[in-house]
Amino acid sequence: MIRLPAFTYVPAKTVAQAARAMSDHGGAAMLVAGGTDLFPNMKRRQFEPTTLVGLRGIREIVGVRRGEDGGLTVGAGTTLSALATHADVVREHPALATAAGLVSSPQLRNMGTIGGNVCVDTRCNYYNQTFEWRQAIGFCMKKDGDICLVAPSSPRCWAVSSSDTAPVLWSLGARARLVGPGGERTVPVAALFRDDGIEYLAKRPDEVLAELLLPPADGWRSAYLKLRRRGSFDFPVLGVAVALRLEGDRVRAARIVLGAVASQPRETPAAAAILTGERLTPETITRAAEAAAGPSKPLDNTDLTHPYRKKLTRVFVARALARLAGLEAGPVSEEVA
Ligand SMILES: Cc1cc2nc3c(=O)[nH]c(=O)nc-3n(C[C@H](O)[C@H](O)[C@H](O)COP(=O)(O)OP(=O)(O)OC[C@H]3O[C@@H](n4cnc5c(N)ncnc54)[C@H](O)[C@@H]3O)c2cc1C
Ligand code: SF4
Repeated sequence: MIRLPAFTYVPAKTVAQAARAMSDHGGAAMLVAGGTDLFPNMKRRQFEPTTLVGLRGIREIVGVRRGEDGGLTVGAGTTLSALATHADVVREHPALATAAGLVSSPQLRNMGTIGGNVCVDTRCNYYNQTFEWRQAIGFCMKKDGDICLVAPSSPRCWAVSSSDTAPVLWSLGARARLVGPGGERTVPVAALFRDDGIEYLAKRPDEVLAELLLPPADGWRSAYLKLRRRGSFDFPVLGVAVALRLEGDRVRAARIVLGAVASQPRETPAAAAILTGERLTPETITRAAEAAAGPSKPLDNTDLTHPYRKKLTRVFVARALARLAGLEAGPVSEEVA
């Protein structure tokens, strides 16, 4: 059994308190919500905070409510189980409910929160290992080393964004409310991520993700499909989030965002442009799916081969579009034996 190292726990009662505690403890502190990703990472010494600022006691960020614009506001402390089964979320943003319901296993969804899922660490086969494994092979620049073991001449880390809900929130045009020690700001979820395996979040460590604001569904339909090795609990090795605004049988607006193919979710505007103004026919779907596969550039640092994951991008985008067109109703998650 791998044990947790010693740390000081600082329970926060409000988001502002949590932000202040993070600021007071500087780089030695991390936020913890459900702990489902953070604690295993601490056990493997990927994270070595000496202080954890606990978000579990903050009631103001738990639950889903109707915003003033008619959209839904999701508290960052809402569990994935609650989100996956929330009647308004299921009805208005089915892709978000699907993605939340496909994260890991029921136990982890009962503890894990949407805030933790959006902020979850990037992943790599050379990094998500025990301390001893990483020591034996030689540490990499994401933790304790100075080179990238996947691309040794690369000046950057290519660890993979592996959140199920982040590409969906991006495709739905959601915004994130961040609270820091000096005030708060609201940014598009699309602006929350950076294309860097180490500095993958475009927020300061002392900013707490408080809420996710979803615009009114207003004619938008959405779907999420996930590829993973084991359907029981694996991270995505490909996620496809599609949101379409239909007027009659024509697409008025589209957003397709891929997960697990880069260090941040990757939008595919060329594919969306092909769909805009068109009917969702098998022919347009094929053209859009081809275009969506272009920006999908997985590296050989997660499960399944990267050419296979790239090839499946086209297949999954086509399936998601066909599902929204009512032409196909296959499974939302595919596992590979
Ligand atoms: C076996 C296993 C399988 C998994 N499978 C999946 C999967 O299929 N898909 C998937 O997406 N994830 C998966 N996970 C990862 C994890 O369980 C989920 O991402 C979960 O939603 C994380 O939420 P949490 O509340 O437990 O976050 P924590 O573990 O508490 O925190 C995760 C990170 O987010 C930060 N954080 C948490 N809340 C906030 C906030 N409000 N503001 C700012 N920062 C915050 C923490 O500091 C930490 O860096 C898996 C984990 C394990 C161990
Ligand atoms: S991509 Fe390179 S630097 Fe990043 S975790 Fe993997 S091996 Fe380490």
